[in-house]
Amino acid sequence: MRTKKHISVIATIILCVIIVACSGEQSRDRQEEQEKQVTAKTTSQQSKSVPQPIATIYIYRYDDFPEAKAEQLKNELQEVYPSVILVKTSIPLPKECYYKPRDRYKGTGLLDDLMKFRNGGYALGLTRKIIYDRNEISSTFGVFGISYIGDSVSVISSLRPKTLKPLSDDEIQELMLHELGHAFGLQHCKNERCMMVDAEHGNKFAQTQSFCNDCKKYLNNKGWKL
Ligand SMILES: [Zn+2]
Ligand SMILES: [Zn+2]
Repeated sequence: MRTKKHISVIATIILCVIIVACSGEQSRDRQEEQEKQVTAKTTSQQSKSVPQPIATIYIYRYDDFPEAKAEQLKNELQEVYPSVILVKTSIPLPKECYYKPRDRYKGTGLLDDLMKFRNGGYALGLTRKIIYDRNEISSTFGVFGISYIGDSVSVISSLRPKTLKPLSDDEIQELMLHELGHAFGLQHCKNERCMMVDAEHGNKFAQTQSFCNDCKKYLNNKGWKL
């Protein structure tokens, strides 16, 4: 996203340069009109230093995920982020992501599919199916959640991949905030008391349900209220 913004800024600058460069050959009226355009573009560039409006987090529930549970997660998220929408209509789990031999869904496939639902904000998918990712242990390793770091999409599962038991309310809330932390650009954190700690292939959750000061600061700069 940053790259896109960067490119659009460059494109705007190039456009301004082209307009200025061509104005010598234009009639006076045309020149004045274009000067106005250049001013307008310069003003819009300056406004980029002003804080941007908060991007919305859209929560999507896959067909299998209970509505009441999704509503509960939305309410919890609203306590720490001001703009959250739970999309009422559920969405189907993409069939092509299903891996029948292990009854699980390909996490990156779900993320790719969710990219189109971001609407300029963030998309979080909720499922009760097992999701998998490739790692050094297995090509279909069960994970709690998965995100594209800094790319605004996350998927979480309420099912524990090893035991097939559901996560507790506290665990799924923590998982949601952890994955959204990734979606907003955070990497794993070394602080054992921070929710951004690596789950390290196990059922490990952070010792506390909060972010460390560094992670808090990062997220608060992106509109969180931690
Ligand atoms: Zn993580
Ligand atoms: Zn941290």
